[in-house]
Amino acid sequence: MTELRYLPDDDDVTEFEATVVETTADYVILDGTHFYPGGGGQPADRGALSWPGGEAAVVDARKNHGDVRHYVDDVRGELPGVGTTVAGRIDAERRDRLTRLHTAQHVVSRVVLDEYGAATVGNGLSTDGGWVEFEGADVDVAEIERLTNAAVDRDLAVHKAERPRAVVEDAVPEGRAQLDLIPDHVDPMRVVDVEGFDVCPCGGTHVDALGDIGTVRITGASAEDGVTRVAFDVTP
Ligand SMILES: [Zn+2]
Repeated sequence: MTELRYLPDDDDVTEFEATVVETTADYVILDGTHFYPGGGGQPADRGALSWPGGEAAVVDARKNHGDVRHYVDDVRGELPGVGTTVAGRIDAERRDRLTRLHTAQHVVSRVVLDEYGAATVGNGLSTDGGWVEFEGADVDVAEIERLTNAAVDRDLAVHKAERPRAVVEDAVPEGRAQLDLIPDHVDPMRVVDVEGFDVCPCGGTHVDALGDIGTVRITGASAEDGVTRVAFDVTP
């Protein structure tokens, strides 16, 4: 098992040390990691591992039966053996951009729910930008952008914590999260609570205050089969 050290609220850490528990030609498993292994629409982190006498680029990270595999490339020296202490360094600039985009997605989803009663049914992001899909087709993109930035400008605190599932189910409004898709055994849940604005269970990385997002720009919108897709970007 790899301890997911970015949970529940250390998602601003990009340098850490950990111990190797398994090494293959393709990947290294550590006892704990700050690399986000992808999921919930957010891509995995990239970065590097280094150890006495060697280093490697981490080109992908993926969960596998409770472990996180750090896929390595450009290996210098021998890959580290079991028990070796390695230093992990996440590409902080890339992580920061994905973190700001991801948190912006929470705000856009909440704005769309409040303004149009429309539930988010899909979302994703890359370093090029993010997108949200929601039910319904009659939206005003300029209004979504205005309301999103109005929330961001309030610079609300973003709290990340483990909470009992029952508490989360009470706090999350209808249409905000697909709680029924989260297996029953997930209890407690990691929740992202934007103070006085939104609560949503989520395992990704998020800023500590909405002002850290920057400015959100809606870059496109399209509708098909009763689902609207809004693309967005963030600028510092
Ligand atoms: Zn999230």
